[in-house]
Amino acid sequence: MKDLFNFIDASPTAFHCVESVKKILDEKGFKELKESDDWKLKKGDKFYVKRNGSSLIAFNIPKSGFKGFHIYSAHTDSPSFRIKENPEMVFENNYVRLNVEKYGGMILSTWFDRPLSVAGRVVVRDGNKLTEKLVNIDKDTCVIPNVAIHMNHELNNGYKYGVQNDLLPLFGGEKAKGTFDEYIAKEAGVKKEDILGKDLFLYTRQKCVYTGANKEFITAPRLDDQACVFAGIKGFAEAKGGSFAGVLAVFDNEEVGSGTKQGADSTFLEDSLFRVCEALSFTRSAYLRAVSESFNISADNAHGVHPAMAGKADPTSRPYLNKGVVLKFNGSQKYATDAVSAAYFKKLAMGVKANVQPYYNNSDVAGGSTLGNISTAHVSVKTADIGLPQFAMHSAVETMGSKDVADLVKIVKAYFEE
Ligand code: ZN
Repeated sequence: MKDLFNFIDASPTAFHCVESVKKILDEKGFKELKESDDWKLKKGDKFYVKRNGSSLIAFNIPKSGFKGFHIYSAHTDSPSFRIKENPEMVFENNYVRLNVEKYGGMILSTWFDRPLSVAGRVVVRDGNKLTEKLVNIDKDTCVIPNVAIHMNHELNNGYKYGVQNDLLPLFGGEKAKGTFDEYIAKEAGVKKEDILGKDLFLYTRQKCVYTGANKEFITAPRLDDQACVFAGIKGFAEAKGGSFAGVLAVFDNEEVGSGTKQGADSTFLEDSLFRVCEALSFTRSAYLRAVSESFNISADNAHGVHPAMAGKADPTSRPYLNKGVVLKFNGSQKYATDAVSAAYFKKLAMGVKANVQPYYNNSDVAGGSTLGNISTAHVSVKTADIGLPQFAMHSAVETMGSKDVADLVKIVKAYFEE
């Protein structure tokens, strides 16, 4: 689990998450291709391509045979607060707060009273060129202080938070006035006037830790969905390859609906699959035949039955932490699993003695959405929506079982070796 902890600790934003994936791929000898390159490929090639620096697709092309694609997808982003341009808001000449907006649907109250830092990407003018740089302040820079219970006696009876006032992080006192842009520029090693674009987010520097009397749980930020990204890259990197092209696809912007140029609802996956076939001189018919034989495991975390609200879970499908990977079903097809893809996934898990638990939303409770059915609209292949059971989804710090990741890694490895 040390690897998982290091992976999450090093990945405060989707940009950094892609860098963490890239690092593992580089160590395994994968080459980076650009979308703007002319792809010259041959059987046995291992490479990856990024889009926007926050989504990545890696390929492991079989040395012989090519039955189709075995795709594993997950998302790189997690709910957070995005810092606006001109963020400084000076309060009565004494405090500087930062102007932020919501990114995704987080549990707002969990962001109070914990040290926060800032990370993301800046775009810098470099002569005539524009260069992208990752930034991670990696210091406890901000805090969103609660209002005392004495000033809001009703707080524990439910309070409707307004992001535009209640959730603005404190960045400093009088001396901090006019310094935020300089602070970021210093970290990026550039002049502040050269920073022309910013995608900056708040994050908690809390490290991943074990919790429970016997280290039963992992308590960490961004488990949704970096735990699934990690299991994917780990299984993908360890697999020896099979008769399908292995495809690891990690997408940004799932938390805001996936509808961006780099999200699961973009052309990124279909473009990349097609270009691989084109570079291997497949005819259009051969490409479509390969797609028809393909499979997608769409991995995004799920809710374990919570002891404080057990009635919110389905009455007969009761996923518990540490009891295995969940296989998600939904009558309205928000999850793309059907009998055929479920059977395939269960068989795969049985082969490596990994546990699988069915997941349904309680029929009277609306669930969240995920990548599987969105991605199926672009690349229409058999899909199993799966995930790891967890508590406190979209809290600043979430909790999951410490055993389930290993089960998923085993399944992913077997999948990429089929
Ligand atoms: Zn998710």
